[in-house]
Amino acid sequence: HHDLPSKVLKLYEGIKMKDRYCLAKAITLVESIRKDHKTQAQQLLSLILDTRHERAKETGDSISTFRIGLSGPPGVGKSTFIERFGMYVLSQGHRVAVLAVDPSSLKTGGSIMGDKTRMPELSQQDNAYIRPSASHGTLGGVARNTNEALILCEAAGYDVCLVETVGVGQSETMVAEMVDMFVLMVPPAGGDEIQGLKKGIVEISDLIVVNKSDGVFASAAREAVTEYTSALKYLHPSSPFWQPRVIKVSAKTNSGLDESWKFMQDYYNIMKSSNELYKRRGKQRKLWMWRQITSELLDRLNSDKEIRNLVDELEQKVFHGEITSGIAADYVVDNFTHKYNVTKTN
Ligand code: GDP
Repeated sequence: HHDLPSKVLKLYEGIKMKDRYCLAKAITLVESIRKDHKTQAQQLLSLILDTRHERAKETGDSISTFRIGLSGPPGVGKSTFIERFGMYVLSQGHRVAVLAVDPSSLKTGGSIMGDKTRMPELSQQDNAYIRPSASHGTLGGVARNTNEALILCEAAGYDVCLVETVGVGQSETMVAEMVDMFVLMVPPAGGDEIQGLKKGIVEISDLIVVNKSDGVFASAAREAVTEYTSALKYLHPSSPFWQPRVIKVSAKTNSGLDESWKFMQDYYNIMKSSNELYKRRGKQRKLWMWRQITSELLDRLNSDKEIRNLVDELEQKVFHGEITSGIAADYVVDNFTHKYNVTKTN
């Protein structure tokens, strides 16, 4: 370890001591696009991984945290729910981190999720840590940073980590691919609206939470529960060990929070004891490795001037239908790998 920069070691020690300032700095490091920052971030993550691995060997328990994804359309009540639910989970003796993947902030610089003062009570708690979404880069990049930020939060002793996202485009899938359990929050509406819901998202949900089950919405919420429950029957569950559930809650009146947590813990216990959780995390790590390979290769390809020129030329030919897309792609890849081989042997 003495080869490591003192900055990395300091952050590592700080995180181990549950120092929030160090955790925040470390997440910023993970989000940075600077090459030296990237190297430091990987050094820090490696240290944490080593420690984790050692501890797992000692205790025989390789998973001691719970990562929960929460998605749903804007306005469904995600931040209200996380505020109330987070307080409840704290009261059960856990430490809670909340991370976000906000796809809207990438294009506009503003965001659907981040503009309002979110979770005012939870954010005041010593045992809670709330980190808004990074707002630059690609969605894939932001998701990858969040994935790494999760590891940092866990190392800082947050054993329950919530990753929130808006139900837009690819962000839900990406969040599902970094958590142990994926929870979908839906409004108290049935009929056509549930028909319109993306089937793929319902399919990857381990729990569906119908929010706003209070006052005038109460009966609509009950109907929604019935409809989602029957809709789930026709879908293939994402794990043979778990049949997805539907429950109603009210973030406003706090009803259903304990039941939500109970379902989540049931899921966690079943998936952990059957080794499914271990496999799920393993598969996810491989997936992120391949994402990283793909994006890194593309970055290198795009930052090579010569190849870039070739690509521009070929794109024109492809555009006008002069050569096939397949031949053009092969040509680019062949040139790129050939060039790389030549420089390597020099
Ligand atoms: P988000 O965009 O999904 O984070 O939604 P918010 O948490 O900002 O909530 C959107 C609106 O719904 C706000 O006006 C909340 O006060 C309201 N809301 C959230 N949860 C509930 C609930 O359980 N019942 C009712 N009646 N309103 C709620």
